[in-house]
Amino acid sequence: MAKVLVLNASYEPLNITTWKRAAVLVLKGKAEQLEHNGKVIYPNFSLPTVIRLRHYVNIPHKEIPLTRRNVLHRDSHSCQYCGYTGEDLTLDHVVPKSRGGGESWENIVTACVRCNIKKGNRTPDEARLPLRQRPRRPHSSLHFEVSKHLRGGSHQEWRKYVIGL
Ligand SMILES: [Zn+2]
Repeated sequence: MAKVLVLNASYEPLNITTWKRAAVLVLKGKAEQLEHNGKVIYPNFSLPTVIRLRHYVNIPHKEIPLTRRNVLHRDSHSCQYCGYTGEDLTLDHVVPKSRGGGESWENIVTACVRCNIKKGNRTPDEARLPLRQRPRRPHSSLHFEVSKHLRGGSHQEWRKYVIGL
């Protein structure tokens, strides 16, 4: 079902919610509707896709869990050594664990089976397998969620509210 991007009073993106919760916020006057998709759900009320809270809320920063799914998403499901996209992607420690490499966003990348085996217990330099981009911790969990929706082809109207996508 349709999701709604919630902006803080400052226009900063806050989170993604269900259309039902968003509709309640708008109907109670707690948020204003910035974008809608034209589908009328009540008389004179279209289904919102972006809303903005009337009062500023302070929300603590949320960490993105370092999981296989999230690393694959960050790397656009492509091998960071050869660019392969397809089935059988693995996770590779850039500096191998046995050589002191840690479990971190900066040291774990998506790799195809071929590159992973070719690289073995070596660093990218030693294996002459340069990384296509430096692995980083993703921006924020919200950026992450929003980019998933955009990549999936939905909610293109969110793009203008989220910087850095
Ligand atoms: Zn590869």
